[in-house]
Amino acid sequence: MALAPLLFAALAVLSGGEPEDPPDTVLLVGGKELQGVVLRETSSTLALRFERRDLEIPIEEVRTWSGPRRSRRDYLPRLHAAFRRPPDAGLDRKLAAWCTANGLLRDARVHWWRALLADPRSAAAHRALGHRPQGEEWLLPVEGRGWRSFEEARALHREENRPWGIPSAHFRVRGSGELEDLLAASAELELLYAAYYDRYQLGAGFPELLAPIAVEIHASADSFPRLSGTVDAYYSPATATVHSYFFGGRASQLLHEAMHAIQDRGARQMLRGDPSMPGWLVEGLACYMAASFDDAPGAPRFEAGRPDRMLMRAHAEAVRPASLGRVLRYESGDFAASTRQHEKYGQAYSLVHFLQHGGRPELEAAFLQILAASHLRRSTAQADERLLAGDDAPAFGAAWRAHAAALAED
Ligand SMILES: [Zn+2]
Repeated sequence: MALAPLLFAALAVLSGGEPEDPPDTVLLVGGKELQGVVLRETSSTLALRFERRDLEIPIEEVRTWSGPRRSRRDYLPRLHAAFRRPPDAGLDRKLAAWCTANGLLRDARVHWWRALLADPRSAAAHRALGHRPQGEEWLLPVEGRGWRSFEEARALHREENRPWGIPSAHFRVRGSGELEDLLAASAELELLYAAYYDRYQLGAGFPELLAPIAVEIHASADSFPRLSGTVDAYYSPATATVHSYFFGGRASQLLHEAMHAIQDRGARQMLRGDPSMPGWLVEGLACYMAASFDDAPGAPRFEAGRPDRMLMRAHAEAVRPASLGRVLRYESGDFAASTRQHEKYGQAYSLVHFLQHGGRPELEAAFLQILAASHLRRSTAQADERLLAGDDAPAFGAAWRAHAAALAED
């Protein structure tokens, strides 16, 4: 086992300067070993991407499996704990080494960078990040500016909008501004991914993402290219990129937009084509997941269903809220239109919340069913309405609004 770190280091393939995580290894009962990416594990099967095919292996045929997707279960509490404290050269170095030993080569870099923040002269961190020694100093590459000292590099990133590149297992964050803020954004994204998969993967059946999601964060609102007057941060499905900017050290709407990316990429991977998800589910779930996290930078705590009171109020206080049928028919574009925009978000959000926390297990099951179907282009408004409200849409509407009203106030 002592060889593992070396082996992983040798397996690392550099793509654009970023390491790639090694495959998982599945050992079958018959003794055969398969290497690929574990996409999903349920009580009955293990799904594996193996040489471009997706295998569903009955769980009784699997003796054991190991690799980076397994190590994540042990990694996530460590990631959370690390970002609840300031950078610490010793602790961050230790965690980076742990990541490397467990095949989490991309995540390891986050912790090497933190070790460097605590101790800018750390030779171990510089070496691990591919920096060059020069005399007493270490130099690092800055896009378009050659090799610079750590301090110079930080100044260039801050003042000239030169992006840092921070890879993690599921994201490829590029952004200008303070390195601390970028690292915190990267950690928040991985915690979001983990919370979403923890909560919904088994019920809705979506696979581990095979390609990291691109995230571009500008240093400030001034340098941020806006799509139109009403759009803040956004996710572009065409380029599979989340675009945001820093405001007071936090990336604007990061978790909300990253949720769009995670869903879109997951559905594309399953369909091998363009998804078409109901607008209410896309927006409602993004609001729901973002609201479920508290505000701690880098290490927000997830509590499913933590209410967004402002959005609940938007539904509870709407003079004429839209009917269930209307909300189920909203398309994503409807949310960009400025007419009653806040109410639309409020109702999409309160619906997603009500289905899961309204105290009716049959609605929670229906929600998972709709979420699963939406990833396969099999969700229709008509069927969803029937599933949720039966033949009494007014009664459903009243209970749903009462739920929003109850959570609108502290
Ligand atoms: Zn959105």
